[in-house]
Amino acid sequence: MSLQIAEVGKNFGKHAALRDVTLDIASGELICLLGPSGCGKTTLLRIIAGLESASRGSITLDGEDLMQQAAHQRNFGMVFQSLALFPHLTVEDNITYGLRLRKMPAAARRQRAAELLDMVRLPGVARRSVSMLSGGQRQRVAIARALAIEPRIFLLDEPLSALDAGLRETMQIELRELQQRLGITTIVVTHDQREAMTVADRIAVMNGGTIHQMGKPIDVYRRPADRFVASFIGQTNLLPASWQGEQLLVRDTLFNPDQAARDNRPTQRDGHQTWLSIRPEDLTVLPPDMVSQPDTAVMEAQVRFIRDVGASIEAHLELPARDSLPSQSLVALVNREQVQSLQSGDTARVQLAADSTVVLES
Ligand code: ATP
Repeated sequence: MSLQIAEVGKNFGKHAALRDVTLDIASGELICLLGPSGCGKTTLLRIIAGLESASRGSITLDGEDLMQQAAHQRNFGMVFQSLALFPHLTVEDNITYGLRLRKMPAAARRQRAAELLDMVRLPGVARRSVSMLSGGQRQRVAIARALAIEPRIFLLDEPLSALDAGLRETMQIELRELQQRLGITTIVVTHDQREAMTVADRIAVMNGGTIHQMGKPIDVYRRPADRFVASFIGQTNLLPASWQGEQLLVRDTLFNPDQAARDNRPTQRDGHQTWLSIRPEDLTVLPPDMVSQPDTAVMEAQVRFIRDVGASIEAHLELPARDSLPSQSLVALVNREQVQSLQSGDTARVQLAADSTVVLES
C-alpha cells in the first residue's frame, strides 16, 4: 500500500521536532529514515503509527485519511529498539499475542506461529521461553510478532541497534530479503548509514526536523544535496571554493567543474561561496612521473599518515596553510603498490576530477 505524508509538522512546546515533512512512499517500497540523534525520525515514525499526533499536515494510506484513526485501527506492524517481548511467555505466545486479542482460535494461532517462525528462519522454538533466546533470535521473534497480524505497513525503529556488528549485518540482509518476499511497504528508522544503504530502496536523510534529501542509496552517496548529506553518508573531503565566471577557485587553483554544476551555478556569480565534495576514492594521489589528466585540478599536499585497514588504504594528507588560507585535511584511497612510495612528510600531488566532484551550494 502506498503512504503519502504531506507537510507534517510537530512541536513539543516551542521546540519544532518536525517541520513540513513531505514523503511519498510507493507500495512495497522500503524507506529508511536516516539521521543523527534528535533529528526527528522516531517522532515521524510514531506519528505514522498513530502513537503521537501531528501538529499539522496529513497522512494517507492509498488515499485513506489516517489522521482520524487510532493506532490500533491502523493495523500496522511495529518493531522497536526495546523489543518489548513478554519475557515470561513462550515464543509462540509472544508471536500470537495480537491474534489472541483478535480471537483467532488456538489451533489456527499455533499454525500461524509455526509459519511465521519458518519465515524468520527460527523453526522449532515455539515452546521455548523468550528469555532463553539469543539477541538475534529475539529480534526474529519481534519481527514475527509484528507480521502476525498481516499488517498493512511495517514500521521498525532502530530494530538491530542492540546487536553486535556481525549479527547486525546478517540480520540486515535477512530483513531485506523477508520484506521483498512479502512485498510489504516498510519504514525503518536508523542512524547507521551502512544499514540504510544495505536495506533501503530509498533513503530520507533527516536533520533538524526536515528531510534534506530523499533518493536511492547510490544517488544520495554520489549526488548529495548539501554538505550535511555529503558528510553524513560515508566519508568525504569538503573544500571551500568560489565561482570565478565558469570556473571555481579552490584555494589558489582554478578548477573547471562539470557541465551540470556550471548549469546550476547561482546567479550571483563571482566570489559566490560553494563547497566541493570529493569522496576519498575519487581523490587521486598522482605517482611522481604521471601528468595530470584533462578537466582536473592538481594540488600539492603533505602526507600526514597512512591508515592501512587491510581491505583499503587511506592516505591522510594536508594542504598546507598559505597566505590567508588555513591548512586543510584530505583523505584519499591509495593502492598497495602506490603506498610503498608514500612516506609521512612527503609532498604528494592530488588530483580532483570534474566528473567525480560534486559542487554544493549549502
Ligand atoms: P534518536 O535517534 O536519538 O532516537 P530521533 O531522530 O529519533 O533521535 P526524536 O526522538 O524524534 O529524534 O526527537 C526529535 C526531537 O524532539 C528531539 O529534540 C527530542 O528531544 C524532542 N522530543 C521527542 N519526543 C519528545 C517529547 N515527548 N517531549 C518533548 N520533546 C520531545
